[in-house]
Amino acid sequence: MAREKRILLINPWIYDFAAVNMWARPLGLLKVAEYLSSYDVEIKFIDCLNTFRRKRYNMGKYPKETLPTPEPVKEIKRRYGRYGISKDEFIERLKEAYPVDAILVTSIMTYWYPAVIDIINICREHYPDTPIILGGIYATLCKEHAERTTKADKIIPGPADGRLIKALNDFGVSLKQTNKKVPYYKLGLYTDISYAPVLTSIGCPFRCSYCASGLLRTDFIQRPTNEILSEIQQLHSLGVQDMAFYDDALLYRSDYHIKPLLRGIAEMNLPVRFHTPNGLHARYIDWEIARLMYLGNFKTIRLSLETVNPERQKATGGKVGNEELREAVSLLKKAGFSAEHIGVYLMYGLPDQNIEEVWEGVRFLKDLKVRINLAEYSPIPGTKDWERLVKDGVIDEEIDPLLTNNSVFSVLYSGYRHEDIKRLKDDVVRYNQSITSS
Ligand code: SF4
Repeated sequence: MAREKRILLINPWIYDFAAVNMWARPLGLLKVAEYLSSYDVEIKFIDCLNTFRRKRYNMGKYPKETLPTPEPVKEIKRRYGRYGISKDEFIERLKEAYPVDAILVTSIMTYWYPAVIDIINICREHYPDTPIILGGIYATLCKEHAERTTKADKIIPGPADGRLIKALNDFGVSLKQTNKKVPYYKLGLYTDISYAPVLTSIGCPFRCSYCASGLLRTDFIQRPTNEILSEIQQLHSLGVQDMAFYDDALLYRSDYHIKPLLRGIAEMNLPVRFHTPNGLHARYIDWEIARLMYLGNFKTIRLSLETVNPERQKATGGKVGNEELREAVSLLKKAGFSAEHIGVYLMYGLPDQNIEEVWEGVRFLKDLKVRINLAEYSPIPGTKDWERLVKDGVIDEEIDPLLTNNSVFSVLYSGYRHEDIKRLKDDVVRYNQSITSS
């Protein structure tokens, strides 16, 4: 009797100057696993990032191995490296999975593509005749680049659907549908399940000029409340202590979505901590949401401001205004959250943004007494800001994605002096420490 088909799913390493784990899991790849679970196939899984030194709330630091800094980013005087499991461990896991009929590799940040190349090359050495299919965010946003630089046999942009089954079939790996779909967290792909990301919706109804969300998905779907509550219950029963909402617009249409969900969470009263690492839309936070989040044991609240400049707020998408943010912070504090739990994203290095505007944002947030989460702007192919930078001649359409790394772009292209960036960062670090210890 022919054996069941076996497919290996791989989440590659991160190659970068910095990386921390804030409850991240490769959700796209896990959704592929869930999708494949309705076919007669055995799934093998290697997550190169499933190793880290655990810190507060099950967040953590990945092990890092120094690598030679790639030529295009040589000017950056920081330690470039591989984050995640060692190369030897990866090869060991690859051998353990033998034999497999196809290998599916995901990709996330566009500027992490050298890790994707290495993973595919190693797979090639060990599985010379096995088809390798690349998907994920980098493959979606930079398909042509991925075709040129990786040795993947096929690149499939976008979410998992019939195209994957067809591609497998074209490679001679035909799968029979069984209609027994299993949620990804029940597939037993992880042994340590102390934390998990939760996605209550797909896509985003906004179109901010710097963001790729609308390029990855054009639709916006909010999942039914009961389904999400049951997922939270099941994750808890599997041992999850920390759950992070990774939605792009968690609070959108709050009366129909987040409010019933938060009421359900409060009623369940599980010993679980919740976090919102993706910036929330401050304008949708009212007293009920603030109070329910506090009662529901939310520990990490991140809000998006990005810039304090009202014209730039409007020009980049108008998702928030300064007074809306001020009001949201006031409600969250009144509900019981302390400054330590509320962080606000503030970007620097946006096209045409001078550093004084960033300092103005820092002063505004210090006045509100919240944590400041500085975020370096990084241009993403296909976004409005990307088009503008190309049109203005700041970057070339064919720029190496390595140069769009957030740690690189602000240094090489923002026009800020190195010492000014350092002064800004040092000031914010000192201020955040003072908030934590007060
Ligand atoms: S930045 Fe946030 S709100 Fe704006 S488009 Fe992206 S995900 Fe949506």
